[in-house]
Amino acid sequence: MTDPRRRIPSVETLLGSEAFEPLVSRWGRTRVASAVRGVQADVREQAAERVAAPVPADGGWYAERVAQRLERLDRPSLRRVVNATGVVLHTNLGRAALAEPARRAVADVAGYASLEYDLETGGRGSRHDHCVDLLRELTGAEAALVVNNNAAAVLLALNTLSLDREVVVSRGELVEIGGSFRLPTILARSGAVLREVGATNRTHPSDYRDALGPRTGLLLKVHRSNFRMEGYTAEVPARELAALGEEAGVPLVHDLGAGALVDLAPWGFPPEPTADVALSDGAAVVTMSGDKLLGGPQAGIVVGGSAWIEPMRRNPLARALRPGKLTLAALEATLRLYRDPGVAEREVPAVRMLVASAAELAGRAERLVARLREAGVAAETAASTSAVGGGAYPTVELPTTVVVVGAEAGRADALARALRRGDPPVAARVRDGRVLLDPRTVAPTDEPVLVAAVAAAAAAVAAVEPGAARAAGLARPVGGEDA
Ligand SMILES: *Cc1c(COP(=O)(O)O)cnc(C)c1O
Repeated sequence: MTDPRRRIPSVETLLGSEAFEPLVSRWGRTRVASAVRGVQADVREQAAERVAAPVPADGGWYAERVAQRLERLDRPSLRRVVNATGVVLHTNLGRAALAEPARRAVADVAGYASLEYDLETGGRGSRHDHCVDLLRELTGAEAALVVNNNAAAVLLALNTLSLDREVVVSRGELVEIGGSFRLPTILARSGAVLREVGATNRTHPSDYRDALGPRTGLLLKVHRSNFRMEGYTAEVPARELAALGEEAGVPLVHDLGAGALVDLAPWGFPPEPTADVALSDGAAVVTMSGDKLLGGPQAGIVVGGSAWIEPMRRNPLARALRPGKLTLAALEATLRLYRDPGVAEREVPAVRMLVASAAELAGRAERLVARLREAGVAAETAASTSAVGGGAYPTVELPTTVVVVGAEAGRADALARALRRGDPPVAARVRDGRVLLDPRTVAPTDEPVLVAAVAAAAAAVAAVEPGAARAAGLARPVGGEDA
């Protein structure tokens, strides 16, 4: 028997065939030829894996695959996604969704902008001036600096204030943030020397006091934003640590991580230090992320005394860690919303999503279900929980109402895949063989887009395996609860 792979038509044959004419005229010969080779390779691989797999010989079959492949390759790699996962600060989906004014600000400066240009004098300005006044106003700090992200802020603080000198930090705070940010590693790369004190669960003032000496560069406090310690624990409060530092003449650097600008305690969140509180507790320098609880763009925010921030600004490393104009524009517009906490609560999507009421979410879920049913998709609501994400409030579960699009026998994964492959792609949760859509993280203006995307994905799943569409619960209501 001859090798079935010999049935695969050659590149030349396919390119010369009628089915390929429109493809060649749209994409050009070179790109089509390369896509043909990709499809041929897939067919060969499948034939090698499964001896009985049919090897298509028809030009039309190849033209269809090649067209899909070319479309896929032509799409941008970084695309907008509808986040229906219910994870508000979804790091893999770009963490915080920007507020409308921040989006407009980004578009506004996309051309030329006064990034380092003094509009009064026509002379050179500094990009490091842009968000400073707002940050000072909002946190009460004397000085401020914006860098590329919070990891960069911590790196720059350590390198500037403790090069070749000891950073005294509790063993209970040598954290890993994820995405390969481990405090001991960053600390070593910064050129500072780690001086760990205390035990994993308990650190006392005397532990810090015993470590202070002529080699000390600074005291570091790292907020445990992404995990909780319970049981037999003790830590030294920031205020007491700052006083210890003051006695010894060394600054306290407080890495807040998630860094909220408004206190979410009134909505039932556990207390988190805000930047102004951390400063009034005596920290010389406070660092935090721009795209966690603040709900702005990826950025690292440094606030504190000029005596510490000025040298950070002049450090040559600051050049390597500096933010771009799009970041600064988005951050400035986001910060402006915090001048009135009521406005921030309504207009910063991350804050709005975190404090959304159970009644509002239930109403939105009901509305989505009604629209999905109109579009011919079986769906129903169920009680569930959303997560904050971004390593913030790790133990908090936010009650929500999700939309359940049912599936049996593993078809939920097919539907979730179809949703990811849609336009725009939708990220959803799959749980117990069902696809869950959480309205908390979907902008109300995106609801029609979501409904259309789910209907299209359901149709795509049905088209692949008509029998499976019924199994996927797409043609009848689904039962069961997600608690
Ligand atoms: C998230 C976090 C960081 C890193 O911030 P990025 O903005 O992601 O670089 C650093 N420290 C703490 C405590 C954090 O929670």
